[in-house]
Amino acid sequence: MKNKAAQLAANKNIALVAHDNKKVELCDWVLNNKEALKQHNLLATGTTGYKLQDYTGLDIVKFISGPLGGDQQIGAKISEGKVDVLIFFWDPFEPMPHDPDVKALLRIAAVWNIPVACNPASADFIISSPHISGVYERLIPDYESYLKERTGAV
Ligand code: PGA
Repeated sequence: MKNKAAQLAANKNIALVAHDNKKVELCDWVLNNKEALKQHNLLATGTTGYKLQDYTGLDIVKFISGPLGGDQQIGAKISEGKVDVLIFFWDPFEPMPHDPDVKALLRIAAVWNIPVACNPASADFIISSPHISGVYERLIPDYESYLKERTGAV
């Protein structure tokens, strides 16, 4: 797979997701980082989004609940280049009925080379990075040359 350069804009689309046992942890993290997060567009799976909005007063775009397809909606947005950062506090102790969706979301975040935090420590590193409020150049799959190689399309 060939890569090409692409930019993450200064104003980022940040997706927030937490499994049930991790929702309080994410609410606390978002509240502690409210000032920094206010500069960005926040998106979340359904239940996480409602809880975060209630707890922090921040505006959050809410997708459908994770087990009903919300993880896949966020994954689709990553593929479209419309999610720049994923903060996903997944639960390492509970089996999930939508485990394939969780795995797919983490996979697609790796494919499109966006920053991912799966716990408060990694989320702290992301939010305190100079890249969070600046333009950041990273490599992503070069879809045009991928298509050309597979189909001959120009
Ligand atoms: P929820 O989904 O925010 O609707 O609880 C999160 C998830 O389980 O992926």
